[in-house]
Amino acid sequence: MSVSIPPPKCLKKPLTVPHRLMFGPGPSNVPARILQAGANPVIGHMHEETFEIMSDIKSGIQYMFQTRNIMTLAVSGTGHTAMECAIFNAVEAGESVLTAVNGIWGERAAEMAERIGARVNTIVSPPGGYFTNAEIEQALSKYSPVVFFLAHGESSTGVLHPLDGIGELCHKYDCLFLVDSVASIGGVPLYMDEQGIDILYTGSQKVLNAPPGTAPISFSERACQKIFHRKTKPISFFLDLNWLANYWGCDGKPSRIYHHTGPVNAFYSLRESLAILAEESLENSWKRHEKVAEYFQAGLESMGLKLFVKERKARLPTVTTIVAPHGYNWKEITNYIMKTHNIEISGGLGPSIGLVLRVGLMGCNSSKTNVDKVLAALKDALKHCHKSKV
Ligand code: PMP
Repeated sequence: MSVSIPPPKCLKKPLTVPHRLMFGPGPSNVPARILQAGANPVIGHMHEETFEIMSDIKSGIQYMFQTRNIMTLAVSGTGHTAMECAIFNAVEAGESVLTAVNGIWGERAAEMAERIGARVNTIVSPPGGYFTNAEIEQALSKYSPVVFFLAHGESSTGVLHPLDGIGELCHKYDCLFLVDSVASIGGVPLYMDEQGIDILYTGSQKVLNAPPGTAPISFSERACQKIFHRKTKPISFFLDLNWLANYWGCDGKPSRIYHHTGPVNAFYSLRESLAILAEESLENSWKRHEKVAEYFQAGLESMGLKLFVKERKARLPTVTTIVAPHGYNWKEITNYIMKTHNIEISGGLGPSIGLVLRVGLMGCNSSKTNVDKVLAALKDALKHCHKSKV
């Protein structure tokens, strides 16, 4: 046998990555401090020092989520991995699941539950809308689900869903309350324990400003009761909470058994990003995101642009959706802004495709200076992109 595939010529060129302003719905820019943390030497995923870093991460997540749950950890993977971890562990084939669909995330959660053989029902609102507690209660009583899924920050539509009272409703109907906070946590108030959330997850690459690849998740005692008394094993070995709980030291056992090779450098970055959030404090981070979002919304309206979410209090401060300007091709606008201003903003996703432009200002990116940059880029794009007469 001989090597018949030569070394690729492209790999002889050095790696080049442009600097960009990442103002889409994620990932956001990663500050030097977090990048440098990730550049520390690799040590073993089962070394004592790694376990200590994981323990710090756990405390940071408990602070960010405002929870005392012991079963708190970070999944190796992106937001989707955490979503599957929640659903695959909490739901068995044949069980009833309810998802709130007011954008793409409820659709995806429904599909994940369907794939493991759950009986899935949805409540559906047009993109940009949300659900009242009365609507949710009606569906809980009709479908008797074991899990109810809701996206706190619907990043495809820019809606911030109210959470108060929903946890109590779920518990009244003996259902676990599963919340996606990938696009909201750290930028908007959320109190996992006080709001009766049973499973909460997020991603590293939005408000936390860490590189994509780790996903904080936490399970309440009620969720653990259900998960650890399942009749069948979860479909995924990689995401089985029995294994993850042991790897993250959440199961009280004296020793940890190798499950998978934790992405140690991603853990360093995640720890640093949680440290930065703790230094600023949740309250200050929430206030900053709120003020910057208000400033941004006022700037957009003064340019004559319309906000997609009409009700002010239902607007997600981290990801703003702008009604796609009439007469323009939204793709030409986003391409122009990328080419001319080196800024990423994006179009819609799933049910909001063609309807909106989306701008994410999350974590360190949430500043008035960055708002001014986006507004200037949008003004310039509207001047230079093709506008049809009709
Ligand atoms: N949920 C929400 C609300 C999101 O915004 C995203 C990412 N856009 C995800 C889930 C999925 O996360 P990831 O892309 O990290 O898998």
